[in-house]
Amino acid sequence: MQRYRTWIELNERALTNNIKSLNALLDSNARFCAVVKGNAYGHGLKEITQMVSRSGVDAFAVDDIDDALTLRESFPSTLIIVLGYTLFDRFKDALRAKIHLTLYDKEGIEQAQSVGKASARPFPIHLKIETGTCRQGILIEDLEDIIRLLQRSEAVKVMGVSTHFANVEDTSDPEYAGSQFALFQESISQLKRYGIDPAWKHCACSAAIILYPQTHQTLVRAGISLYGIWPSELVENTVRNQGFSCDLQPVLTWKTRIAQIKSVRMGTPIGYGLTQVMKRNGRVAIMPVGYWDGYDRSLSSIGEVLIKGYRCKVLGRICMNMSIVDVSEVPQPEKEDEIILLGVDGRQKISSEDIARKIDTISYEILTRINPLLPRVVIA
Ligand SMILES: *Cc1c(COP(=O)(O)O)cnc(C)c1O
Repeated sequence: MQRYRTWIELNERALTNNIKSLNALLDSNARFCAVVKGNAYGHGLKEITQMVSRSGVDAFAVDDIDDALTLRESFPSTLIIVLGYTLFDRFKDALRAKIHLTLYDKEGIEQAQSVGKASARPFPIHLKIETGTCRQGILIEDLEDIIRLLQRSEAVKVMGVSTHFANVEDTSDPEYAGSQFALFQESISQLKRYGIDPAWKHCACSAAIILYPQTHQTLVRAGISLYGIWPSELVENTVRNQGFSCDLQPVLTWKTRIAQIKSVRMGTPIGYGLTQVMKRNGRVAIMPVGYWDGYDRSLSSIGEVLIKGYRCKVLGRICMNMSIVDVSEVPQPEKEDEIILLGVDGRQKISSEDIARKIDTISYEILTRINPLLPRVVIA
């Protein structure tokens, strides 16, 4: 790591712990699908899937076909589901690599039927049901038509049926998620009446996995919790109040190094736009990290980093590849000392939730915005 200016460390023990914690909550019929979209929530697709497979999971879910094909090279027989939209032109690639596509309309199913027919091999799909998120999905009132379309040909094999919750993270209002789940069960019954009873029935994301075991069905889709982060503060508090244990440990630490240290007099303007001046005589350090790396420009003047266990404030604007922090309080900081942008240093901690709160977003975005080109180092 001595050769990296800015890098991501991935703690394999934390990841293994999280898988174990979540597995312990699972309904006995449910298998475990690791959601690795968004470059494995910014952690690194290759590194995370290798680690996850050593811990034994049953499936991967990605957003797009290219990630699915990349994973197929390393995992010849694992169930891989594409959650997002797939262009018609790519259906052939999906079938060839035995990738399961999420489909939810007549056009998609007809395309799968024609590609399946041409290859003389059934096209594996998961039907996504619209139950109240108003994203992709089959409206309940259209399900009958879709079923009729499916019955017309053997070229498509329905391997799964799924839906996605809109606000299951908001534990103060579980009613809406409950109504979505009821609709999902209704549509499963409707499919069954027509002889469509796929092996994979799935709707539970992290919050549902943790709080609502009745939603686990035959497969759960774990995203944020896999990486050791709570889906929301409400979920974390609910778990604490209900008194059961679910130990989640953050997997990712983001580090950089001091590029320069200098003494700066009170009143000196700092950075582009002269947006801030030094409030007293002190010392600043230059960090070789900026918004290109995924360190959000909104953290200008309000971000914090850890150096030798001390919290240091970002001063002035975050630049493309550099930023400036106040190291006046740090005893004897030196060039190339480690800086923690996100992670733990002694008793101090900067979590993705802390950063998200500062700039009014969610931990998911902080993590997935980390530039995929930064080196990832697995810590065993
Ligand atoms: C992202 C996503 C998940 C995972 O959600 P988490 O809250 O991160 O666990 C599950 N299902 C679908 C369809 C998703 O898009």
